[in-house]
Amino acid sequence: MTARPPFPDIASLWQETASARPAFGTLSGGHRFDVAIVGGGYTGLSAARYLARRGLSPVVIEASRIGWGASGRNGGVVSGKFRLSFADIAARHGIETARRMHDLGIEAIDHVGELVAEYGIAAAEYRPTGSLRCAHNAVSLEALGKEVAWLRGALGDRACSMLSPGEMEAETGSRDFVGGMLNTHGGVIHPLNFVLGLAAGLQAAGIAIHERSPVTAIRRDRDGMVVETPDGTVSARQVVIATNSYSDLTPATAAVRKSIIPFRSAMIATEPLTGTAGQGLLSRGRSYTETRRMMRWFRKAGDRVMYGGRGAFGKTDSESAFAALHKAMVRQFPELASVAVTHRWSGLVAMTMDSLPHLGRLDDRVVYAVGYNGTGVAMASNMGRYVAALVAGETPDLGLLTSTPLRAVPFYPVREPAVRLVAGWYQFLDAIGR
Ligand SMILES: Cc1cc2nc3c(=O)[nH]c(=O)nc-3n(C[C@H](O)[C@H](O)[C@H](O)COP(=O)(O)OP(=O)(O)OC[C@H]3O[C@@H](n4cnc5c(N)ncnc54)[C@H](O)[C@@H]3O)c2cc1C
Repeated sequence: MTARPPFPDIASLWQETASARPAFGTLSGGHRFDVAIVGGGYTGLSAARYLARRGLSPVVIEASRIGWGASGRNGGVVSGKFRLSFADIAARHGIETARRMHDLGIEAIDHVGELVAEYGIAAAEYRPTGSLRCAHNAVSLEALGKEVAWLRGALGDRACSMLSPGEMEAETGSRDFVGGMLNTHGGVIHPLNFVLGLAAGLQAAGIAIHERSPVTAIRRDRDGMVVETPDGTVSARQVVIATNSYSDLTPATAAVRKSIIPFRSAMIATEPLTGTAGQGLLSRGRSYTETRRMMRWFRKAGDRVMYGGRGAFGKTDSESAFAALHKAMVRQFPELASVAVTHRWSGLVAMTMDSLPHLGRLDDRVVYAVGYNGTGVAMASNMGRYVAALVAGETPDLGLLTSTPLRAVPFYPVREPAVRLVAGWYQFLDAIGR
């Protein structure tokens, strides 16, 4: 029997403001389901929802607690974009591929609202307030202008428009930006309450979910697949791997892990601003990202400011990474210098070789959906409908997400120094204003 790894809860703002957790038992004994889903985040739960809709019996098996991975600790920015711009996708792969992926992004954003409404997840505090990209220099502003023109012209996306420096100051409260791009699609959410509400809704619909049950092995037998945990087993016709950046928790998901570069993303949250300096900042409650390569982002959560960006390299948090975030926040919003930071936490983002998520098959019995590259709140929670289609033998078209393979990371053992090198280079370019 394999010992369960320790999985301490994350000391995040989300954890402190979490709604009541539904109880999910550990998997024990032998069971049979149509589909065994490894991972209890947005992807795994969404897969269970759509498999059940097709009349199949799914089981979600989570190593720790529901939402322990990225789904319960992310920034809660609801966005339909990919790391590659739609214009770049069109230039390299054709306008129809770009259109399909753009449609997928909008569908995923709308789907967040549908889930919140269907399962009554008021505690997710979903606000479809849109997002602002904040240009830090003239070169970035020009690029944003071209992007808006392209999105409006080529894809007919009227949700995007440009803002002047004055409008940016009125929107953000910062004089740091030379202009920006408003996108009224998307918004912000309490990510942990979203995933807990989704799990509670599925449980109420009779879907089996187990926590504290790390899958230690996935193997074939004569009738299909067997999924092993320390105290139980599931026999299933098919397996779905939904472990994303946490695919190295056990060797069971090694086949997927080799294609993912885990990158630590960190954030800090201030005390409530009511009655303190800076209480008028970010008054529209959107999500905000900078155009620098080592992208920093911020938002309000209730009346606190959250500020995020690159975390520490390596396996744990570091004081210096949090201090760098605080310094950047105060540079942007000087009035926050006297405001206390009450929460600091981080998580792993799943980067892929082509910066895109992928849905596909390892073989005739194992499906995977991973690699959201830091933009998975909407995308992962909508991915289940396509996971279910693939499991059912259909061939869903998600543009490059399904038409291109999930490539293995070359020289996987040296991925950490490589990430450090690339990040250092980006930081240097940002510092010299390129
Ligand atoms: C700090 C941070 C900030 C982010 N901010 C944003 C944001 O603002 N907006 C946005 O769109 N995206 C954001 N993301 C990305 C987003 O959170 C993810 O893309 C999304 O949550 C992925 O969901 P998932 O279900 O695929 O993976 P996860 O939520 O990570 O779930 C995977 C689960 O698999 C479990 N698991 C792993 N191995 C096993 C095993 N052997 N057996 C059983 N279970 C196992 C893990 O415990 C984990 O709970 C952020 C990510 C991080 C880390």
